[in-house]
Amino acid sequence: MADGNQPFVQFKNVQKTYDGEILVVKNLNLDIANGEFLTMLGPSGSGKTTCLMMLAGFETATHGEILLDSKPINRIPPHKRGIGMVFQNYALFPHMTVAENLSFPLEVRKMNKADREAKVARALDMVKMSEFGGRRPAQLSGGQQQRIALARALVFEPELVLMDEPLGALDKQLREHMQFEITNLAHDLGITTVYVTHDQTEALTMSDQIAVFNDGKIQQLAKPADLYERPENAFVAQFIGENNTLEGVVKSIDGETCVVTLDDGSEIDAKPVNVSKPGDRTLVSIRPERVEFNKDRLHADAHTLKAKVKEFFYMGDIFRFRLSVAGNDEFIVKARNAPDAVRLKPGEEIEIGWLPADCRALDA
Ligand code: ADP
Ligand code: MG
Repeated sequence: MADGNQPFVQFKNVQKTYDGEILVVKNLNLDIANGEFLTMLGPSGSGKTTCLMMLAGFETATHGEILLDSKPINRIPPHKRGIGMVFQNYALFPHMTVAENLSFPLEVRKMNKADREAKVARALDMVKMSEFGGRRPAQLSGGQQQRIALARALVFEPELVLMDEPLGALDKQLREHMQFEITNLAHDLGITTVYVTHDQTEALTMSDQIAVFNDGKIQQLAKPADLYERPENAFVAQFIGENNTLEGVVKSIDGETCVVTLDDGSEIDAKPVNVSKPGDRTLVSIRPERVEFNKDRLHADAHTLKAKVKEFFYMGDIFRFRLSVAGNDEFIVKARNAPDAVRLKPGEEIEIGWLPADCRALDA
């Protein structure tokens, strides 16, 4: 049983190459606490599945070590790792009924018939599919099949569940419903979960912690809100949510605020995140909902920028504008639809600004 203080899963300086040349996982360090729901989020090819496969034992690390419950994983035989798995192509056995599919992992573990039947019934109940035990997979919808795949991963009460894009094949509504069910189930059962997705919304809504992957490296490990509000580099700022960036050079730094000279010569205030001195090249990053049109709401000495309205979209709950700002023609602003909200017309020239705390100067 996992010790509450030690991480349940640990990647220590893990590297992986398939061809002996290119490292697809580069010196990866990651601790996952017992009972935590951790998501590996990143674009295709960033090394997420490889990490999951190494944890499951289907691939070996080229360098470094993976610990499960403080023990090196290669010393634990796969069937004793207590790992449940769910993948996108759920691959239920087509010739077996739902109940037989669920019973299979228990038979492999040599459980007796009465215990198997009890566990299968409980697992079916857990995913609200009690009436479907006698059907074959082909007689179920995609969502139902995915629920059974989930039940099959949970039926032997694993301490760790790995899921690789398990909802990728489902339509949006069902996906959102299943996201909710999976997180509830994982938390109720206290199972440690490692979930892989390239879908940021899915990651933000489901996870306790998110490890953002790019190029075989973890770019940032953080709670969902921190990832959105406090991205630590330009990749994370761009990948999570909508984001505007402007390029420039740090002009001056004064504690929590810096002034950035943008490439068109205009100046703006930002919060220095990983720039340290005047002359550093930077990408300043500002969320669409943090841009202010009303100068009265900014400090008297705040810098503002000239902007030209390119497009206006009425979206019901929000107004969305596309602006041209300091050479960036794709600068997006979102404003809540309130009685005093401004409606701007294409071609209009305006001034925009923001609080320095809402604009992050990241290393370019
Ligand atoms: P992700 O799951 O983030 O899309 P993967 O871990 O599947 O990323 O892939 C990371 C890199 O490793 C990619 O460049 C991919 O082409 C390569 N790769 C994955 N699996 C294999 C394999 N079995 N043999 C060779 N290269 C592989
Ligand atoms: Mg993958």
